[in-house]
Amino acid sequence: MSDQVLRDLVAMGKFLGSLDGIGVKGNKGGKGLKAGARIAGAPATVSRTMPPVGASARLVVSEARGALEVRPVPVPAPPVPMAPVRAGRDAAAVEIALTSIREEIGDCRRCRLCEGRTKIVFGQGSPGAELMFVGEAPGADEDASGLAFVGRAGQLLTDMIEKGMRMKRADVFIANVIKCRPPGNRPPETDEVLNCQPFIEAQIRAIQPRAIVALGATAAKFMTKTADPISKLRSRFASWDGIPVMPTYHPAYLLRNPAAKKDVWADLKLVMDVLGTRAE
Ligand code: URA
Repeated sequence: MSDQVLRDLVAMGKFLGSLDGIGVKGNKGGKGLKAGARIAGAPATVSRTMPPVGASARLVVSEARGALEVRPVPVPAPPVPMAPVRAGRDAAAVEIALTSIREEIGDCRRCRLCEGRTKIVFGQGSPGAELMFVGEAPGADEDASGLAFVGRAGQLLTDMIEKGMRMKRADVFIANVIKCRPPGNRPPETDEVLNCQPFIEAQIRAIQPRAIVALGATAAKFMTKTADPISKLRSRFASWDGIPVMPTYHPAYLLRNPAAKKDVWADLKLVMDVLGTRAE
């Protein structure tokens, strides 16, 4: 290689190297480059050895050796947040924490909802859940059984989890912002939400899910601490104490508006991306 060619390569390498993470596209089935793989010659060689789609390559120059090196750089951050990593969770300790939250609720008389309720609906699921669903408040079926999301909306939620996300319902945790049924299924009032707030928050802190799906307007506003309508909040992650929160339509709304199922499915796919469980 002549001195002039070498100088040109060094100059080009400096220029390219100054751009952080130059994306190189193509070669879907390619093998990519080994870290530090060395190529002799001009950038034309780079296009022959492109990394797989989604990765980036960056030219770095070694003046000492007078050769261009191509090194993969980290894949750019995906357009979804990173779910917190949970190492060594102790399900038994979470179970104890949940039991103590339930004891704290006791035979709650903190607000007027106690007058019409049959059972307090604490929520149920796996203490090791990586995914948590937060709904609004118990309906008639939940009030009678003491279990969250067991009516028609609950059946649809089960389908969303099991048929859509291909997870077992028993492996997630499902709870509501409000633990007692409001009369006639009216939306909870502000003071009722404030009374119940410590309990759902304590449940989330005990479980530490890697992602939360907020079902419907009440849960979405509560989890995102905004007054925006669900149509504006959905499809984007918010953060609750560092946990990605995806607001989406409530299953009861989907029963009345099946056309919105595709929007919920799009939201759930983003949640699967965060959890790393999306197959397609
Ligand atoms: N709707 C909710 O928001 N929660 C339930 O548990 C049932 C219906």
